[in-house]
Amino acid sequence: MSTSNTATPAPETFEYRAEMKQLLHLIVHSLYTHEEIFLRELISNASDALNKVRFRLLTDRDIVDTDAEQRIDIRLDEKERTLTVSDAGIGMTREDLIDRIGTIASSGTLAFVEELKKKKDGPLNAELIGQFGVGFYAAFMVADRIVIHTRHADKDSTPLCWTSDGAGSYTIEESDRTARGTEITLHLKEDKDEFAKKWRIQSIIRKYSNFVDFPIHVDGEKVNTVAALWHRPKSELKDDELTEFYKFISADATEPLGHLHLGIEGVVAFRTLLFVPKKAPQGMFREDFEHGLHLYSSKVFIQDDCKSLLPEYLRFVRGVVDTSDLPLNVSREATQHSPVMAKIQKTLVSKLLGMLATWAMDEDPERFNTFTREFGPLFKSGLSTEFEHRDELTELIRFESTRGEKGDMTSLAAYVDRMQEGQKAIYYILGDNRQALERHPSLEYFRANDIEVLLMTDPVDAFIVPSIPKYKDHELTSVETSDLKLDDTKAKGGLSKKESGKLIDRIKSVLGDRVEDVKPSERLVDSVATLVTGKAGMDAQMERMMRMMDENFTGSKKVLEVNMRHPLMKNLAALRSQPGREKDVEAAIEQVFAGVELIEGTLEEPETLVSRMTDLLVRATTPDSEA
Ligand code: ADP
Repeated sequence: MSTSNTATPAPETFEYRAEMKQLLHLIVHSLYTHEEIFLRELISNASDALNKVRFRLLTDRDIVDTDAEQRIDIRLDEKERTLTVSDAGIGMTREDLIDRIGTIASSGTLAFVEELKKKKDGPLNAELIGQFGVGFYAAFMVADRIVIHTRHADKDSTPLCWTSDGAGSYTIEESDRTARGTEITLHLKEDKDEFAKKWRIQSIIRKYSNFVDFPIHVDGEKVNTVAALWHRPKSELKDDELTEFYKFISADATEPLGHLHLGIEGVVAFRTLLFVPKKAPQGMFREDFEHGLHLYSSKVFIQDDCKSLLPEYLRFVRGVVDTSDLPLNVSREATQHSPVMAKIQKTLVSKLLGMLATWAMDEDPERFNTFTREFGPLFKSGLSTEFEHRDELTELIRFESTRGEKGDMTSLAAYVDRMQEGQKAIYYILGDNRQALERHPSLEYFRANDIEVLLMTDPVDAFIVPSIPKYKDHELTSVETSDLKLDDTKAKGGLSKKESGKLIDRIKSVLGDRVEDVKPSERLVDSVATLVTGKAGMDAQMERMMRMMDENFTGSKKVLEVNMRHPLMKNLAALRSQPGREKDVEAAIEQVFAGVELIEGTLEEPETLVSRMTDLLVRATTPDSEA
């Protein structure tokens, strides 16, 4: 077999190597899930060839067809059932045809065949083809004969024709095509005639090759309308171009809330164009929500839902990342674990948080408010997984508070700014909705003393609060915890220490082990009692969520705090020592406890509460003459 550069006048036949045959057999006879990707491979090869010639022309204009137009042409012939891809790229020499087209880099091939043997039963998929770079040979999925006419850019090159049916051998002979570049004709299999249809080919190109840097024409009509915007300088990009591009990749009809356009030259080089939508996409919280950025390698599309580029809490972000540091043939599995991707992710997160921070400081707060309203809950959830950028993230989360109106959101920084002199902790309360929280007995002290409390009503708040134990030296403290250090000089006018101690003992003996402890309260103003979290316990809201997830969840016991300034407690203290009134004291204590359980949402037998209340009412309404 000759490999010399002089063309042979008669067709010369070459046998494929054994492993190549095995591979071809598998490609042709196995079922593929994405056979349309063959076109992506051919277009990307053409685009590479055009890039090579573009590069060579920078220093050498003495080549075949110096001024040939740099574009990719696809011609379809439905009657003949052919699809032809041609380019005026660098072209191929005889060696190229033998070493590059006739052979697949052997280590890759062996690995591929091994992998295929393992996967014998299942259909092959696009990822596998990409992973092992069978590239050009993917065309044999849809074609039973392929003819290549090619002429290398070197002035003295011989035009050549390569033909194969993808079985045992291929032939090389001289060609009469004299133009520079390569023309690949696929003679489509009988049942693959769809690939000779213009609409089908156009839609495949729009899906996989829309941003290839060279114009692609199908039967003379240009198909890839959108250029690789992210490769253009920032100053050149017009807003309507960006919006059009955003709509294209997001399938969203409204313009984006904002975008980020970066070219990074560092350990990993990449360009990116990211968008934050104006509205949260439907199903954003669902497990099967489709998300991820479009990943390109040197302008060639790799995959459209690349999840490893952003953490889950930023999964509403849309856009493109294009890096030259990943090989084109990279597989999905490989991208997931690639250190390149991890480095890109790190940069993206820090730049996105940086952009949001500028929105937050913006003079027009509406943009950041929209962001918080639409994405706040998901965004916040990042606090439980984000370690690297925790501080930046913490600055960007917002909560409602007792200071603002419903819907007003505050940052922790703004809360701290408003703190009272001497106030150390940042106070919060967890619950289902603002209305219920505002009436919560635990807030009475804070309202009476004009201390702001964050109202955490997002279901996710209960899970993220443990991730922010402190903000700038201020502990985040639930107003429902038992050991709040409140200023008790403000709670004057209660029972004496001795009286209150005795009453507390009485309450303890009635409630027994239903509570962890009973204490006089400093936080209550109007209410008679409230339940607070014991030392090791969880917030009421946290416990509600745990119960929602696990039926058998039993919460920890609570501490009952009693308002010793309340008339009821004063009455009970007096009644406690009166003979014959034990039953009344006990009923009142039971009723108070049932009442706080009702507010907490933990009351198990409302009937008992109602019948006891009825008894008490009967006594209270008995006319004086009968008493
Ligand atoms: P890969 O593109 O991963 O190298 P392929 O099987 O797709 O694998 O292509 C093998 C080689 O054949 C390419 O690397 C390139 O050298 C050559 N080739 C394929 N198509 C063309 C083309 N249109 N113009 C020039 N060279 C090509």
